Parts: sequence; structure tokens; C-alpha cells
Amino acid sequence: MAGMALTLRREDWWAMREHVAREAPYEACGMVAGREGQSAHVFPIPNELRSPTRYRMEPRAQLAAFEAMDEHGWELLAIYHSHPQGRAYPSAIDVAEAAYPVVYLIWAPVGDEWFCLGYWLEGGRIRPVPIRLQ
Ligand SMILES: [Zn+2]
Repeated sequence: MAGMALTLRREDWWAMREHVAREAPYEACGMVAGREGQSAHVFPIPNELRSPTRYRMEPRAQLAAFEAMDEHGWELLAIYHSHPQGRAYPSAIDVAEAAYPVVYLIWAPVGDEWFCLGYWLEGGRIRPVPIRLQ
């Protein structure tokens, strides 16, 4: 998966966009599942920190999402979260806490709109990952 592009179905992009806009000014978080770099489903997960600057996925909701992925034969492709007051770029904490070998999607507002950028975070390094909409 490292270095590969991520392809998002438009409905998955919109599901995340709706979620991050709804949770603002708090950070929203969740997971994108699918196969071979192609999204199939978005799992919004409650941010148990309920913070405008930090997130931590609520463990039970995260476990339920992993179980649903297993049932459908999906893999974890991406973890998303929002920076309601910041840029669509990983914070130092995001880099330090990145625990999964997946794409990290970061959403940020520009005026009334939201957009996301993708990154591969590994070993303290930040590498952009192309995001395609389908
Ligand atoms: Zn962040």
C-alpha cells in the first residue's frame, strides 16, 4: 500500500465531508475501508476527546468497525480526521501517533468548503499520497 494512490468513491468523500462539517468546531475522526486502494465504506468514529485540536477514536466503535470490515472482506485503507481550525497537513502529534500503515486523510475548511489531503506517515516522515475521486 505504501506510495499507492487512494481512490475514493464520491459517496465516501461526501460521507466524510458531512461528518467533519457536522462535528466542527471539534475534530472528527473515522476510518475508510475497501479493497486494493479503492474505498467501499466510511466508518465515522466518535472522537472520545471531544476536542477542537485532538482526536482519539472511541475504542469500542473502532473495534465494531474492524469487525464489520472483516465480515465484508474489506481492509483498512485510510484513517481520516479534521483540523477545524487548521490546515490539511499533519501536526507533529499526528506524525508521532500514526500507528497504522495506511493513508492518513486530513480535512480542513477553506471558507465554507472542506477539502482533504492524503499522507503516508511512517518513521516520522510525511509523504503526500494522491487522492482520486471516482
Ligand atoms: Zn491532526
